[in-house]
Amino acid sequence: MHSKKYFIANWKMNGLKKDLNQILKVENFLKKKVNPASLNCIFCLPYTILGLAVAILKLSKIKVGSQDLSSEPFDFGAFTGQISSKMLKDLNCKYTIIGHSEKRSFGDSDQEINIKINMAVKNNLKVILCVGENLNEYKNKNSFTKVKRQLYYALNKNRKHLNNIIIAYEPIWSIGTGVIPNNNYLNSFFYKIKKYLNNEFKFNALLLYGGSVSSKNIKDLKKLNLCDGFLIGGASLKSKNFIDIIKNYYN
Ligand code: PEP
Repeated sequence: MHSKKYFIANWKMNGLKKDLNQILKVENFLKKKVNPASLNCIFCLPYTILGLAVAILKLSKIKVGSQDLSSEPFDFGAFTGQISSKMLKDLNCKYTIIGHSEKRSFGDSDQEINIKINMAVKNNLKVILCVGENLNEYKNKNSFTKVKRQLYYALNKNRKHLNNIIIAYEPIWSIGTGVIPNNNYLNSFFYKIKKYLNNEFKFNALLLYGGSVSSKNIKDLKKLNLCDGFLIGGASLKSKNFIDIIKNYYN
């Protein structure tokens, strides 16, 4: 386990300029109440407010990330509507989510995810790689087979860059549903993932949990001894909910 915990917000298709105020409230809370050595706080925002967020948070310990990037293996070109890792880096964006189940459900293939990771790390962005099984796969006890495959295809051609990749295990059936796996299940699943990454890639990965994390369940999730932090969707939109998660984690 790594000592500094990650609290990563995923705002999805939410957030106007005025909502950046929510992040400033988190920033105020962190400044007053949290030992900076104990956590990494990152907000993954829609493209439209990334630049403004970076400017507002210039002196903050909160870092800014995107939720995706182009799968074209180029920095620039005739790719209408696409945003490259080079452009994100130019904004001073530090992180990007890749392989979120919502993006996979819109068609992101393993091959595209592989290219996205490659382009991100080439431009010095840190990657939050999401993996996870759907409800059927979970019920049929195929969770690990699915996650292992996703990890293999994402990481195999990016072996030189593993230190810039954080893994977020997000069971799809837990995202936005309020249902989360119990700690026994998560402990043994995390163990299997870590063991696989060590054996296959010699990779001592940072491993996060994502799916319906809230101020109510965080005290239980805190007991997961192989968990390096959390990817938080719905509960990251309002500063109070996000702050309560951090408060309950440390108190
Ligand atoms: C997510 O989509 O990455 C996520 C974790 O969402 P939620 O916290 O809303 O389940």
